[in-house]
Amino acid sequence: MIELRHIHKSFSGKKVLNNVSINIAKGEVVVIIGPSGSGKSTLLRCLNLLEVPDSGEIMIGGVSLNTASYTQKEVFNLRAQTGMVFQNYNLFKNKTALENITEGLIVVKKMSKSAANEVGKTLLAKVGMLEQASQYPITLSGGQQQRVAIARALAINPKAILFDEPTSALDPEKVYEVLHVIKELAKLKTTMVIVTHEMEFAKEVADRVIFMADGQVVEEGLPEHVICHSDNPITRKFLRQLT
Ligand code: ATP
Ligand code: MG
Repeated sequence: MIELRHIHKSFSGKKVLNNVSINIAKGEVVVIIGPSGSGKSTLLRCLNLLEVPDSGEIMIGGVSLNTASYTQKEVFNLRAQTGMVFQNYNLFKNKTALENITEGLIVVKKMSKSAANEVGKTLLAKVGMLEQASQYPITLSGGQQQRVAIARALAINPKAILFDEPTSALDPEKVYEVLHVIKELAKLKTTMVIVTHEMEFAKEVADRVIFMADGQVVEEGLPEHVICHSDNPITRKFLRQLT
């Protein structure tokens, strides 16, 4: 479903992704872990085409991009294949919860306002936020804002949802409500790529864990294996530092 082949990305001469190749199956939940600066966010941004890799190939749901030669239209097409949820929610502050979701449907998908409102309300209900539909982000808790952000990412009906540390800006007591929504999406076989430092959550939700360090995939496998029983010294060192 998602295929990255030999992805390289540098920023001002510094190699951030060094020959990363990853395959993700439809319905699979992949959790990416690794030290700060290892390239996890850059990898997600490449998957969402917020950054175009320096070289390599990206394929998502039958749409592909060869980084050696591409058009802006191809970049937009590929970007529309994934929805992204950021650490800091990134909601439009001057729009209500519902409008945050319908905006893209009306502007990009050219949906009528009433049709978009229907879709928006269904999605808000899915993340337990229907009651707050007409509230502005500033009046919502972090956990509530993040649930609206997840509903917004789902709105364009993407092939996969990408999460970059979706709970790391939240108060501890708000973390569970966002993790609960992600777990529900996993039950529905939503394809997801999740960067997180929550190892317990990773063990619960991941079909596969990828450990990255220094811009490379160091190892990948079942969560139990990578998080609990890895014999790779780099993985073990990282996990030891977390506790
Ligand atoms: P963290 O766990 O702290 O979020 P990360 O694994 O997500 O780390 P990235 O954000 O992908 O790491 O960053 C990898 C490296 O690339 C870092 O050294 C970072 O400073 C650098 N980097 C990322 N984006 C840019 C950019 N737009 N311009 C310059 N350097 C960048
Ligand atoms: Mg990051």
